[in-house]
Amino acid sequence: MTHISGFERSQLLLLPEAIDDYVGLDNPVRFIDAFVDGLDLGKAGFARVEPKATGRPGYAPGDLLKLYIYGYLNRVRSSRRLEAECYRNIELIWLLRTLKPDFKTIADFRADNRAAFKAVFRAFTLLCKRLDLFGRELLAVDGTRIKAVNNKDRNFTRNSLDKFIKAADERLADYLERLDQGDAAEKTPGGARVKNLAEKIEALRDKRGRYDAMLKDLERTGEDQISLTDPDSRAMAAHTRVAVGYNIQIAVDAKSKLIVDQQVTNQVVDMGLLQETAEPAREILDVEKIDVVADKGYFRTEDIAACEKAGLMPHVPKPQRGSSVSNGFFRKDEFRYDPERDAYTCPAGHELKPIRHGKLREMTKIDYANAEACRACPLRSRCTDASYRAVSRLEHEDALDRMAARLKARPEILDRRREIVEHPFGMIKQWMNQGAFLTRGLEKVRAEFSLTALVYNLRRALNILGMDKMMEAVRA
Ligand code: SF4
Repeated sequence: MTHISGFERSQLLLLPEAIDDYVGLDNPVRFIDAFVDGLDLGKAGFARVEPKATGRPGYAPGDLLKLYIYGYLNRVRSSRRLEAECYRNIELIWLLRTLKPDFKTIADFRADNRAAFKAVFRAFTLLCKRLDLFGRELLAVDGTRIKAVNNKDRNFTRNSLDKFIKAADERLADYLERLDQGDAAEKTPGGARVKNLAEKIEALRDKRGRYDAMLKDLERTGEDQISLTDPDSRAMAAHTRVAVGYNIQIAVDAKSKLIVDQQVTNQVVDMGLLQETAEPAREILDVEKIDVVADKGYFRTEDIAACEKAGLMPHVPKPQRGSSVSNGFFRKDEFRYDPERDAYTCPAGHELKPIRHGKLREMTKIDYANAEACRACPLRSRCTDASYRAVSRLEHEDALDRMAARLKARPEILDRRREIVEHPFGMIKQWMNQGAFLTRGLEKVRAEFSLTALVYNLRRALNILGMDKMMEAVRA
């Protein structure tokens, strides 16, 4: 008995096999090929779709786009690794018809066409819509933080700069004092110890100057922080850690857990991003109204009201915050508002009427109270530590009341949110190994995430429908 053996490496084969034979009919690489061939790359915004009339011929954008989609689908994202794969990976040799672009050409293609990748993501989303993969009834919105090419040590806030400058001043004062003492002790000014100290002082002054310039920059621009390697990235909380990165927002349709739309921002918190993320998704799904669920990090009165106006029916739990909650007093939602009487009923059953008007951000704010009732109230110790309790109502609070009613009618929707959004983020971070971006700058990072979201959708759609249906759709 012998083992199964291959051909001798030096043996000439009588009939060379075609590359096509190495790629099975159900190989996703065939779908990538057909999908990109069906795109209008010029309309999507890719440069050099028409070859130049003169000079050295360049690679067709379609070929480089296929290379990137294949790479992201197979966890190969760096241009150097993609170049290497072009030489040894039979699927890529098939996909690129033996083309072997160098890593610089590959990297430049992603950088030069950064705005066009979102259009490719959109084109695939529209294909999913045609294939009825969206339920178009419920969107879950969520955000995650992905690390940027910027170390934490190269990110500064006003606070950290103030601290560094203060520490530098203290050390400078100490060095100067030691320098004076050194001069006196060494008698001959400019001795070795003194020279050493003078150098340290020079270096520290230089460093302090750089901190000072950064602080002035922050004051001039009104920004809160400055990142030196990737200036667009920001320090933001990712679970229990703070990392310098970007905030990724996705709107996911509940039916197949496909990403309908996505955006990358450097806003540190999710608050205020609900409408911005969900509205383009509603437009893509082409529905007038759609339910949207998000976690309490998105709770912002103006945003909830804006969502309703835009046909998005938000379901966002109200975070329990404020002094009443921290002091253990009756929560605001324990006071019932009656729009007809324009009054609140408090837990003791008294009516609270408007007492003053004010402003919060851009919204009018009305305080309601009944000081007389509070004075004699047996529940006062559970309600306030002041002489009376005032409850505020904001301009758009009717939208919050309607949202509370929706949540009361469908409390299970919050559990569905977790199940819907955890799938894409889990896949992207674990399976696709997208723990950090490779490029710098908001626009380039957006291009990167468009590719990530595209291949997440592509893999999922292929899993749900299979190659035959997907190929049929892309050829239609
Ligand atoms: S303290 Fe005032 S607002 Fe609070 S329960 Fe008593 S009467 Fe109502």
